[in-house]
Amino acid sequence: MSSDSDPVLSVDGVSVHFDTDTGLLSRFRESNAVRAVQNVSLDVGDSDVVALVGESGCGKTTLGKTAIGVQRPTEGTVRYRGQDVWAAKDGHQETTIRATEIRRNLQMIHQDPGSSLNPNRKVLGTLAVPLKKWQPELSSEDRRARIFGLLKEVGMTPPNDYAGRYPHQLSGGEKQRVALVRALLMNPDVILADEAISALDVSLRVEMMDLFLELQDQFQTSFIFISHDLSNARYLAEESGGRIAVMYLGRIVEIGTAEEIVNNPQHPYTKALRWATPDLQPNEETEQPLRTVDVPDPKNPPSGCAFHTRCPEAREACTAAVPDLTGTDAASHKSACFRADDGHQYWDSEPLEAVEEEETTSAAPDGR
Ligand code: SF4
Repeated sequence: MSSDSDPVLSVDGVSVHFDTDTGLLSRFRESNAVRAVQNVSLDVGDSDVVALVGESGCGKTTLGKTAIGVQRPTEGTVRYRGQDVWAAKDGHQETTIRATEIRRNLQMIHQDPGSSLNPNRKVLGTLAVPLKKWQPELSSEDRRARIFGLLKEVGMTPPNDYAGRYPHQLSGGEKQRVALVRALLMNPDVILADEAISALDVSLRVEMMDLFLELQDQFQTSFIFISHDLSNARYLAEESGGRIAVMYLGRIVEIGTAEEIVNNPQHPYTKALRWATPDLQPNEETEQPLRTVDVPDPKNPPSGCAFHTRCPEAREACTAAVPDLTGTDAASHKSACFRADDGHQYWDSEPLEAVEEEETTSAAPDGR
């Protein structure tokens, strides 16, 4: 995103907590909330591409849904073109934008397009529904022409053949193309694509990513792509000149261009992700596997840097405070790790592995 343009979407200090206590006793207990997103700020510009990457359960889908106004944040604000999304949705007077406008301009494509298509409705009928709702002034001929035009754009030709099919007569890739057409019919500013290619055959993924990028460029739409796969995130960010945001346990721990994240990762979690991605040549000198594969409980995240229980570089100081997401040498590249600061007390504290070993030894009854 160029720094001199106003963002289309602005997520500021957003946290999303889900309360898992529903019983009568819940009000007397300490909150048992899942901290899905923790104090995240992120701007999405015009024609921007942001790939959110991280392992399952890291909060990327919740963050994506919060950014497009589908999930209400527990704290923080989400702005669309400078206006508070939830103030508009709640009908507050001070906003000049209507909730319907926000809904129309911020679209989503799900991982499983089949589940969002009505099995009893042909493609034409499915695609006509949003157009009838948002552009009732269109004649049925204009609606049909618009739908056929977009079906052609996504490679579903002849369009009249595909328009007459039911979802069960489409392949997974074709269903995803229909979902893409449905989102594009609204001429949205931003599309959230949630693991939109992960259910497809490997051979189809690059083709689908290329289609997303081609249409992103053609329609000047911004995309937030959610993926658990760093090589897919890299492809999307590299080809579009966009960014990759790496998430861990509800926080963005590193953000930058594809080149910065893949060729010059700063955060130990990004390095571990890179190390575990088969397509990327590991850098044996700087990349190490995680200390444990166990993901901490998001209801009770570790103190300080939440990654300290798995980080191969963790030191005692990492358990005491949460590192800020701060800049590196490049303005676009930020990382949340104490190692970025040469003067931080991290460098004087003991490696956590040594501390844990010492504690285990001194706890053993015979001192071994
Ligand atoms: Fe690892 Fe410490 Fe950096 Fe967190 S702050 S990523 S635990 S080195």
